[in-house]
Amino acid sequence: MNRYHPLIVALYLALPSPVEARSYTIRPGDSYEKIGRKTGSSVDDLLTCNPGLKATKLQIGQKVQLSRPYTVRPNDSLWDIAQREGTTIAEIAAANRIKDADTIHPGIVLELPCRKPRVAAARVEDHEEHYTPGRRKKSVTTKTVRFPGGLRLEVVTDVNLVGPGKEFYDPNQSGNPLLKVPRTALDDKVSKYFLLAEFAHIGTPSLARKEYTQAYMGDRYNTYIRLDLALLQKLDQLRAQAGRPLFIQSGYRSYGYNQRLYERVYGRRPTVSRHSSGDGVDLDLPPLKKKQRQKFNQKAENLFRQGGVGRANGFVHVDDRGRRARWRY
Ligand SMILES: [Zn+2]
Repeated sequence: MNRYHPLIVALYLALPSPVEARSYTIRPGDSYEKIGRKTGSSVDDLLTCNPGLKATKLQIGQKVQLSRPYTVRPNDSLWDIAQREGTTIAEIAAANRIKDADTIHPGIVLELPCRKPRVAAARVEDHEEHYTPGRRKKSVTTKTVRFPGGLRLEVVTDVNLVGPGKEFYDPNQSGNPLLKVPRTALDDKVSKYFLLAEFAHIGTPSLARKEYTQAYMGDRYNTYIRLDLALLQKLDQLRAQAGRPLFIQSGYRSYGYNQRLYERVYGRRPTVSRHSSGDGVDLDLPPLKKKQRQKFNQKAENLFRQGGVGRANGFVHVDDRGRRARWRY
């Protein structure tokens, strides 16, 4: 005989099956760094889920948690959780096998990857817009990112676009949201010197998914983009140092586009590109006299001290990845 109320049984069956917590068992020779490399977590990440873990007292056979449970609160969206808890929609979707962001409800327990919660205020704001279709007043609230100069772009959280391996996936989990690019905004400034079009431009349209591109003034542009505000600030400073316009040879590249670019054009394994996170660009080297060029290079070095600088003959790649990387092409 069933001792449970049928309603409770029905409710239980309606909930998604619980996802198991991920863990790692310490092996001989393991250190913090090794565990981090094997599991794709930083030391900070590991400590978020394992506050008691001591670097000097790692014991063979000891279990290290790689995820932590999170109970969905009222009014939580996947986006809110990702922002607050330092992770991304894609990571949460992958860990919990979520196919549709609308399926999360208050009370459901999710397994979150061990990321350090974000302290900095989210760059995304709620934006209320009023309009009057016919006679009735309506208002819609959207999540937007506001750029210096006032341009607002709407945040896109569709798991089918940003989920693991999807066309607009962020392979670096940067936290830069995917944004909608209206054609009418392409000529708008996103910083003191740069236009949205310069980052949304598609270098090789045949590599892009046509449904995610739009034509404008004879060129093709992405309909979605990621664009890091801190990168923009640095590019403005670099532009000021150059004293002349900087040409962005390659701005945002969708994850899918970058894969196809490497496989079909370069004939090698795709990189985990910062271009796909919206915090990396390739700049044509401006034609400068020797002394000015040295100053320009020095400025790039300083601005991207904690980032990537890749030098080639005609161009320089810069990115704001948060740790130092230097290379030559
Ligand atoms: Zn690059």
